[in-house]
Amino acid sequence: MSDCIFCKIIAGEIPSAKIYEDELVYAFLDISPINFGHTLVIPKEHHQSAATIPEETAGRMFRIASRIGILLKRLDEFDAYNLHLADGSAAGQVVMHAHLHVIPRGAEDGFRWNWRQLKYPEGKMMEIAEEISAKLKEKITQ
Ligand code: AMP
Ligand code: ZN
Repeated sequence: MSDCIFCKIIAGEIPSAKIYEDELVYAFLDISPINFGHTLVIPKEHHQSAATIPEETAGRMFRIASRIGILLKRLDEFDAYNLHLADGSAAGQVVMHAHLHVIPRGAEDGFRWNWRQLKYPEGKMMEIAEEISAKLKEKITQ
């Protein structure tokens, strides 16, 4: 896609700190990292949403991201890593070329997800589960 910053990075039109590339995916350092080594793994083909990425490419993204996470732990003595994907602007997606963040984490790195914990009203949890499950079944068999 001609006006996509990540497509331009893949094409070499914009510089990037590349750490991995194969026929399906490209991985490079995030320019504004949560911790140093924070990496983005992207499909070479332009997809705005993760939902349209072909299964083989999506699987490769996940595998490479996990490998990078494990390597970051060894290299920089991080304790753990997060994989994060924002799908849609309300979820925090800023660059509209799907990307998987690999975020190296230390127990004392000072970063916390602002993760709230709501409570379901009585009966609502099962109602929602059944609704999603039925719709998902329709989609998958389509
Ligand atoms: P998101 O909010 O999930 O869409 O994340 C987009 C990420 O892309 C942000 O963490 C940015 O720091 C990163 N980013 C934007 N432009 C570049 C670039 N030219 N090189 C590397 N990372 C970038
Ligand atoms: Zn793109």
